[in-house]
Amino acid sequence: MKTFTLGTNTRQCFIDVTQNVSGIVGESGVSEGICVVYAPHTTGGLAINENEDPNVSRDILEFLKDMIPAGFAFRHSEGNSDAHVMATLIGSSVTVPITGGRLALGTWQGIYFVEFDGPRSRRCNVTVIGK
Ligand code: ZN
Repeated sequence: MKTFTLGTNTRQCFIDVTQNVSGIVGESGVSEGICVVYAPHTTGGLAINENEDPNVSRDILEFLKDMIPAGFAFRHSEGNSDAHVMATLIGSSVTVPITGGRLALGTWQGIYFVEFDGPRSRRCNVTVIGK
């Protein structure tokens, strides 16, 4: 397993980590297999989505904020329950096939760390399995 770190500079944002992951896949020497990217956090997660129009990630964040209002009567005293709910919905990992030594992403797909309670320092763990 390899780890890379990143910093987020707003409370909620998408950070494109595709190059971080593809670099680790390239270094692994695996040509056919799978890559699992895992975020060990409770208020941030990972998603694969469009890498062309930045309005797509903005729309996703705005939709989540509308669906999960920060002012809801949450019990968690830390004050970031909206972020915990969003991270649960987005999920902690993504899995991408590897073929020809490269991530088999679609043309318009990118891998994103999604921050819901920044700014913070974050980690992503990458496990590459294959031959
Ligand atoms: Zn919390």
